[in-house]
Order: sequence, then structure tokens, then C-alpha cells
Amino acid sequence: MTTKTVRVATFDGPGARPQVCTVPRPAVPDRAALIQIGACGVCGTDLHILRGHWPKPLPWPITLGHEVAGVIVEKGPGLERDYMGQALGVGSKVALPPLMPCGECYYCRHYPEHANRCLRPTYYGRYIPFDKPPHLWGGWAEMVYVDLEMFPATKIYRLPDDMSLMLGSLSEPLACCIRALNRAVQARGFRFGDTVVVQGSGPIGVLMVAAALEMGAGRVIVVGAPEDPRLALCRAFGAEATVSIDTHTTADARIEAVREVVGGFGADVVVDCSGHPSAGPEGIEMLRDGGTYVEMGQFTDAGSIDTNWHRICVRDMTLVSSWGLTGDDMPRGIAMLQRAGRRFPWREMQVVFPFSEEGIHEAAQTAMDMRCVKATIVPDDSL
Ligand SMILES: [Zn+2]
Repeated sequence: MTTKTVRVATFDGPGARPQVCTVPRPAVPDRAALIQIGACGVCGTDLHILRGHWPKPLPWPITLGHEVAGVIVEKGPGLERDYMGQALGVGSKVALPPLMPCGECYYCRHYPEHANRCLRPTYYGRYIPFDKPPHLWGGWAEMVYVDLEMFPATKIYRLPDDMSLMLGSLSEPLACCIRALNRAVQARGFRFGDTVVVQGSGPIGVLMVAAALEMGAGRVIVVGAPEDPRLALCRAFGAEATVSIDTHTTADARIEAVREVVGGFGADVVVDCSGHPSAGPEGIEMLRDGGTYVEMGQFTDAGSIDTNWHRICVRDMTLVSSWGLTGDDMPRGIAMLQRAGRRFPWREMQVVFPFSEEGIHEAAQTAMDMRCVKATIVPDDSL
């Protein structure tokens, strides 16, 4: 019954066709396991890698696939529980994420909510039961091998017994969508009943429709293509309307179409799931003033990594804009001046000019020439 070999698909490099190779089934030590793959999704990241967009050298030949759902077919006695403390046994259904934070580096310790930016993450690429490729670490294979002794950051997540592995393989990309919306919640930028516009109708866009509705969105509108099968599926998932980029071929046309559907002042939240750098400037125009823009276009134009918009996504940052002030901000300024009146050389930033034609002209000219910091006109210096 137990197979002696495992078949693994490898790629020799970008543009290469997959080759299915056969490797000996590895021995499974104390804190390791062999997981038979039931389902593994094809992610946009896989496709970028195959197009040669990955910005760093990769150890070709490699096996792709990181949306893994499978069944433990063999495990060592020392591997007893998953990351959440649930018991693991032969026959347990499990999912594995692609990037596993170390929990020890400066980032993991001090910024745990951004542990996705771990300085020493464990990737699949680290599971190497054989000293030569193919390695059993990509999900486009019959099995993957995990070894917590060699790679202690490895995280295994048990799936419910009654969950199909097809459904379980969506857990990683769906979790990315949930996290993106939770980032908006943290920024107080997503509330129950909000109108959400999703840019992009690929797998992440479709899963975002489900995540937004489950997390309380009142209305969801998707901008993407093609109608069949993607936009139709977005509507089947509950999107109220879709705007096709095949029929609305300019940014202005898409913005107008979205704003017409959304009505009012624009959407409360716009989420970029498209991965196109141009989606950012376009999506901002679909937002109401005071709305929240979430950039999760994961691999946004990694071919030109100097694109600023791509960096906004990669750095897991919060970009906050601020325009002037509201009526409630003014007293904060007054209170700070009172509180900190002696702590800063406020008066040194001010250069005084008299109230006269010459004085006002000189004040404006001095400021324009940057010969002072704060030119200040003083009509009555006795006050
Ligand atoms: Zn770390």
C-alpha cells in the first residue's frame, strides 16, 4: 500500500515546462511528516515566478505551489500538535502557509503584527530532504515533507475533518484578504455596512468579495475582467455590481462607472487586489473623501521593483493622508502652545514686519526668498 516513490513537478527556470520527476520516499524522523497533497492552488505569485518576475535569484529547478491542503500520511512521534495546539495524527487534514515567520528576529519580537516582514522566514524552499533537487517542498507534487527539527518555524494548521481539501486549499489566500480588511479596521477605515470597491477579479478579488461581505460590508462592487468567468463569479459571490475593464477601457470611464453605482460621495473602502501599479491612482478616485484605500496587490509589478506604488504593498505600511484641519483640531494647537510655550524657541521662527505697503511687500518677498521662516505682519506691537 505504501508507495516507495513520490512524483514531483519541477520547473527548470522561467518559461520552462513542468517536468514530473520521481524521487524516493524519504524517511520521516521524529519531528517531521509527509503530507499527501489533496489540492494546491495556482497563485499569482507562482505565475510571476514562472514569468521571471521574482526579484531575487531562485534555486532552480524548483517546485511551485504554496496553497497546500493535504493529509498526513506519515509522521514522527515527536510531531504531536499543530501551530494552534490541535492534535495531529496520520490521516489529519492540514494546510501550510508559504512564509513562516521565525518568531525570534527583531521584527518578529518587536512588531509581531508585521511578522510577515520577518527577517529570517522559513519558506518551502528550506525543506530539503534530498541534497539535490527536486525537493519535496512545493505543493505541485504528490507529497510535501516538513521537518520541524531542521526548520522549527514550520507551521502546520489542522483543517476540520469534514472540510474538503479543495476548500481547505483556499485558506491561505482567503486569510490574506481577511488580514487586509483587518488592517483597514485597525486604521478605523472599515465599518459595518460600508461600501467596498474591489479592484481586480482574480482569485484574490473573488475571495475579497466573500471576506468583505462576511466582515460586514454593506455593498461590494468589483472592477475587473473578463466577464466570463470572473465578473460573473464575483456576482455569484455577492458583488452587487461589476465594472468590466474590457468595456470601460480608460481609468476615467471606470471611475465614472463605479461612482455611478456607488452614488453619494464615493466608496468608503477601495481594496486593490489587481496587482497593477496603475490601480492605486485610479482607485483613490473611486473613494469618498475620508475613505480608506487598501493596497494588497501582492506582487504589484515586481518586474520594476522601483515602482513606488509596489513598495506601499510590500512594506506592509500605513499611508495616512491629512488635509488641513477640522474645527476640533484648533483647540489642540492652542493647548499645545500653552503647555509647551517655554520648551521651544517659537519666537525665533518669527520675523516681524510692520503694517505698511513697504512692510507687507518686504514680508512677502522675504518669505518667498526663504530668507526667514515665518514672516509675521504686526500692525500694532503694543497688543
Ligand atoms: Zn522573524
